[in-house]
Amino acid sequence: MRLAHHHELVARLRRPGPDDPWRVLCSGCLFGWPCGVDGTSNGEYPGAMRFLAHPAVRAVPFCPEDHALGTPRNTPDLHGGDGFAVLRGTARARDQHGTDITEAMLAGARAMLAHARAHAVDWALLMDMSGACGSQVISEGCRFDAERRYQRGVGVATAMLLEAGIPVVSQRDFHCHELLWQRLEPDHRVDASAVDHHETAWYRAAFGGS
Ligand code: SF4
Repeated sequence: MRLAHHHELVARLRRPGPDDPWRVLCSGCLFGWPCGVDGTSNGEYPGAMRFLAHPAVRAVPFCPEDHALGTPRNTPDLHGGDGFAVLRGTARARDQHGTDITEAMLAGARAMLAHARAHAVDWALLMDMSGACGSQVISEGCRFDAERRYQRGVGVATAMLLEAGIPVVSQRDFHCHELLWQRLEPDHRVDASAVDHHETAWYRAAFGGS
């Protein structure tokens, strides 16, 4: 149910309107909350904000790491697999000091899923590269290692949302965003040059593929 990998799913989303907006779960930091590990919003994301401010969209922000670990906090990363592997018990979440924070990350993910269900969200727009919210690429092991390594995969909260059937797209999946805009505004002209994160030169260089 990762929308960037299954574009046809966008057409199956109900058509929203101001009287019945899409309810979009979003990473709190994408919405401007200062919930990043360092107490910032991890930068600015005007494209995501433009989406979330649309009259036919109601943003449902949440930060699973802030919920479970507070802010500021140490930096979680996944070791030995992605969020699905954490759910299966074959990978762990650790901070940069090596402390095992798997249970806290699972608690944050459960809280995010409960929040999503309480608001009956239609889909989710999440911050990629995060050990909680990532949906395309996350770090393999600690991101502060001398040579940062990456893995294709999802964060712990994203894995739980996907298993519950909630479609997810990242802030970097620009092709998919174009299709979502067209669903939102039928007159929208899709920018054919827009690509999703897994279609970028960086991704291909990192993981191969055409
Ligand atoms: S856990 Fe998610 S919402 Fe919270 S700061 Fe990280 S990416 Fe943003």
